[in-house]
Amino acid sequence: MGIQRPKGTQDLLPGTVEQWQYLEETIRSVCREFGYDEIRTPMFEATELFQRGVGQTTDIVQKEMYTFLDKGDRSMTLRPEMTASVCRAYVEDKLFGQPQPVKLYYMGPMFRYERPQSGRFRQFHQFGVEVLGAEQPLVDAEVISLVWNLFQRLGLSGLEVHVNSVGCPICRAKHREQLQEFLATRRNELCKDCQDRYERNPLRILDCKNPSCQTLTAGAPTTKDTLCEECSTHFERVLALLGVAGVAYRVNPRLVRGLDYYTKTAFEVMVEEIGAQSAICGGGRYDKLVEEIGGSPTPGIGFAMGIERVLTALQVQNKLPEEKPRLFAMLIALGEKAQNEGFALLSALRTQGISVSMDLQGRNLKAQLKAANRQGAHYALILGEEELEKNVILIRDLTLGEQSEIPLVDAVEEINKNYQRGV
Ligand code: ATP
Ligand code: MG
Repeated sequence: MGIQRPKGTQDLLPGTVEQWQYLEETIRSVCREFGYDEIRTPMFEATELFQRGVGQTTDIVQKEMYTFLDKGDRSMTLRPEMTASVCRAYVEDKLFGQPQPVKLYYMGPMFRYERPQSGRFRQFHQFGVEVLGAEQPLVDAEVISLVWNLFQRLGLSGLEVHVNSVGCPICRAKHREQLQEFLATRRNELCKDCQDRYERNPLRILDCKNPSCQTLTAGAPTTKDTLCEECSTHFERVLALLGVAGVAYRVNPRLVRGLDYYTKTAFEVMVEEIGAQSAICGGGRYDKLVEEIGGSPTPGIGFAMGIERVLTALQVQNKLPEEKPRLFAMLIALGEKAQNEGFALLSALRTQGISVSMDLQGRNLKAQLKAANRQGAHYALILGEEELEKNVILIRDLTLGEQSEIPLVDAVEEINKNYQRGV
């Protein structure tokens, strides 16, 4: 076997790419309707950006980053996510000078050094949204309802939208204390990772996927018990607005984002049917993040959605468009002179936006007709020596088997008429 693609990466071939394009186009139109603009940032950034913007204590920074020294001995990292990059751009490109809030979306590859398995890749793709510069509950509700709207548009069902509030640094400190107190006597029974988390980041213990940790924390104090007045009012308003927008959500008091710069609203969307990696989207508010990476205090909220996992859900639920659009016509030119004429015709038709192909290898009529059928062409446009002599072209309807002969000079107009009429 020759050189293979790196572990945990994929080649997306024709046949599959059309599914990606369909999803990407649907995403773009929903974002347009919600008034979000696209942002594109570099595929790699200074490592420090992610250490600060994702957080030192996270799995991503501790274990999953593709970090390397460039030729100038600078530590660089292939982006594992894009929120930190968008916040950096907000500060560096002075987006705070524009009317606030700034509503952005992105799509693109992310890189994490993880153990590849179903639904988990080393290069995967995310669609995400970030709104910077507003803290009102309306923003939280808009962002969540954008996700909801997209999934409705895609026809996905069985989604679980979990929502919670993790509060502000003040109420979280109280929660942290209560949690540590609750877990103090059970500390040794926690998994190894959670024993580490006990001091560093006890909130994350609530999020542990290990069943025995889940049992141990079953009755643990949740964020709900410690929210301060302001955070609690904010949360109630977000929930009320989600109700207004028709989002079917569930409050999940165990849903946490463990870092100090995550504040208030946190949410996640799950689809059970796609297997163990059932989270297709995660997000929340991060009112302290822009400050963390060196900007002025700026509230922000966003989410990231795993494109591969959404595609799996669409596949499982049979919600992907049937097939790729068919070729409108196949031009069959026999002989060099016919190829010249045909090549010119092809170009004129393509200028009109009509999809046409021709045989590029000088094959015989039978082989070319076979190729036309294989590509699902509606028409074959046949140009042989005989037709050239008479200055005509044969138009054969490949579905009905009917054919007609038209003057070559009228070909573009006639074919265009058929095209406009639809097939
Ligand atoms: P998980 O718990 O599955 O590891 P996460 O908390 O690391 O997810 P986020 O960082 O919140 O995920 O990223 C948002 C979304 O990106 C996830 O909900 C998931 O759909 C997708 N995602 C994350 N990591 C991967 C990966 N390695 N391969 C494919 N999709 C991924
Ligand atoms: Mg992960």
